[in-house]
Amino acid sequence: MKKKMESNDTIKVLVVEDSKVTMKVLCNYLGRMSITPLTAETGAAALDIYHREQPDIILLDAQLPDIDGFDVALKIRALEKAEDWTAIIFLTSMDKDEDLARGIEVGGDDYLMKPISEIVLKAKIRAMYRLVEMQRALVDMTQKLNEANVKLQRLSATDGLTGISNRRMYDELAIREWRRCERMNKPLALVMIDVDHFKLFNDKYGHQAGDECLKKVADQVGRAAPRATDLAARYGGEEFVLVLGETDTDGAKWIANRLRQQVSDLNIPHYATESRHVTISCGVASVVPDEKTTLETLLKSADFALYQAKKTGRDRVGAGVYGQIE
Ligand code: GH3
Ligand code: MG
Ligand code: MG
Ligand code: MG
Repeated sequence: MKKKMESNDTIKVLVVEDSKVTMKVLCNYLGRMSITPLTAETGAAALDIYHREQPDIILLDAQLPDIDGFDVALKIRALEKAEDWTAIIFLTSMDKDEDLARGIEVGGDDYLMKPISEIVLKAKIRAMYRLVEMQRALVDMTQKLNEANVKLQRLSATDGLTGISNRRMYDELAIREWRRCERMNKPLALVMIDVDHFKLFNDKYGHQAGDECLKKVADQVGRAAPRATDLAARYGGEEFVLVLGETDTDGAKWIANRLRQQVSDLNIPHYATESRHVTISCGVASVVPDEKTTLETLLKSADFALYQAKKTGRDRVGAGVYGQIE
């Protein structure tokens, strides 16, 4: 935010006035307020300077030789963005009340009657600058609010420990993907993933080492499904899920096996597994969504396939059948 009014070096004032005498008087008055204004004698020059310099306040003569002051104001208001609002004070003649009304109508913020009083000019510049400062504070605050919202959005979508999508995201996006596949008459596959003997890992190496291990596994899970419509999420604890649109069981098995290999390749020592390093088991199921099938049953089917993988030795991918849940 800029400094207060007391030091006028931060206020940019543009004076638009075709009468040389009035211009000189205005510049003198402003000079005594420590303001060196930008000046323009025509509407075209005013617009040009406006674009180049983005003044805070414009003193705008209503009657100009080319584009009149009202049209200049209209053009400025049409072009400016909310965040760089410029205060416009019309300079109107004593005998033309309709000019005054028109000036406010086209977007002017205030007016000054000619001949211009130095005291009134000073007061109005002060008042307008106060508004300019308030506008700046508002823009500043809005920007901070937007940033906070983006951060909040990200936090509510990602898992705190691993940084990949959380369960909430799964709940939201999986059903969306389910419906998309239903419309396209394409299969949707789920891969349930569970770290093998992870309780024993924690018991032996400590919870902190367990967290580190989960982060590394999650990293691989996050990379396993790279298509824009794919989702990789932490389902809970040491369980993860992949949502793979337009993918059949074979495709999902291939993805799951590649992931299983990548986790194995991390080579994180684990005394309790067959291979003596951290491994995962996966369960895969796929179905073409229609009115007779549900996402819940697909998830249960993948979970049952995972259970089978565990039962038959871990570090493997079980392929399920939709509807087979026990
Ligand atoms: P299985 O091979 O049958 O899956 O055996 P398991 O020990 O992995 O299965 P179980 O579900 O009994 O244990 C899961 C363990 O995961 C229990 C819990 O301590 C651990 N765990 C869950 N969430 C976290 C976490 O955020 N951090 C750590 N360090 N451990 C976690
Ligand atoms: Mg004039
Ligand atoms: Mg588990
Ligand atoms: Mg486990």
